[in-house]
Amino acid sequence: MWALVMDFLPYQSVLSSAAVSRAMLRETMPLVTMLHLDCSAQLHAGVASLRYRDVRDIYIYSLLRYSHVDEDDEVDEPDMDDDEGLTTQVDADTAVRAVPFLCHFPKLERVFLGGRRPNGRVEGFICSGDIMDEDRERMTTLIDAFSGAFRARALANNLWVLGLRCPRSSRTANMFSDSTCLTCRAACRSFPLESVADFECEGSSCKNLSRNSFYYSEKLYSLDVCLRREKIEEIIVEERPGGRDSLYSEARFLSLLGRGTRKIVVPDEGKELFVVKYNEDELGDIRRCIVHSRMNVKMLSSAAVTDAIKRSFAEDERDPLPPRDQCYLAQNSFYDLRSLGLVIDEANFLNADEWDGKKHVSIHPVQLFSNYNWRFT
Ligand SMILES: [Zn+2]
Ligand SMILES: [Zn+2]
Repeated sequence: MWALVMDFLPYQSVLSSAAVSRAMLRETMPLVTMLHLDCSAQLHAGVASLRYRDVRDIYIYSLLRYSHVDEDDEVDEPDMDDDEGLTTQVDADTAVRAVPFLCHFPKLERVFLGGRRPNGRVEGFICSGDIMDEDRERMTTLIDAFSGAFRARALANNLWVLGLRCPRSSRTANMFSDSTCLTCRAACRSFPLESVADFECEGSSCKNLSRNSFYYSEKLYSLDVCLRREKIEEIIVEERPGGRDSLYSEARFLSLLGRGTRKIVVPDEGKELFVVKYNEDELGDIRRCIVHSRMNVKMLSSAAVTDAIKRSFAEDERDPLPPRDQCYLAQNSFYDLRSLGLVIDEANFLNADEWDGKKHVSIHPVQLFSNYNWRFT
């Protein structure tokens, strides 16, 4: 659902948009709405003058630093196309300065903290092998600093924080007992309510981490906490005012529908295509919302449900939808959603090249699958 900053063939455009932002910093005022910061020295509060009062998005790439340790233990500056064997470290300076810096932006809506690999890939603090003790401490201190700032109302209560992960949060964590991590519990009590409902958990932000895969997800994740989803929801329901209503509302249900994973396909010729597929976690969130809210999804209007699903095609919730003929919903996902009881109709999703126009005659998007099967890996 989040700023898919770059889904595919993206780096040049992000790099150039970062360059544009830097030019804007010098030349335009006060309409700067997005900042891209590459080094911790830029996190001086001095930068936060009036001209940046409209900033809504800040991307901080200096939190993670990459270095290359070769056999003779020399640390090299990594080069562009050598992405193997890189060691990731958390930058202490950035970890300390980030929150006080961010408190200067009254209109801030989202902040990403992470790094930019030498090959250009932007990533949060995902599972990157062994984490050194000092890095664990820096990361938990940073998350605690966000919790404190939210509690003190020094940060807006609609700010989304992307890219961070509790060092204890991983897929191999104990699924049967609740973590006692105070950092994550405090985050669930302090971060904006809606963002807590969307926390990643138990390393779910790491699930797309397969560096071999060409179709690496570029999603920027919300805070990944070391608590089970059930525990997060329990804290919301029991400890956050309005928590239950917000968590199990129709509005949240519809917003969950708009969070299928979006991939961008860039064909050799023609326009780019947007393919949406719901993974098991996304379907699980939808299913759990139905169960806990005791909502009768059959009563929801088909138009509202269809529109909500189609929000998945947008880059993020603030963006308009691409043209319909560029949007494809994966067949499996259509049937998965319908089996949850949603009242939806193929005809509202299939494009001209997926069926013959005669309703219910040839509903299988055969052509889609034979041509574009690779999109669904
Ligand atoms: Zn710099
Ligand atoms: Zn934790």
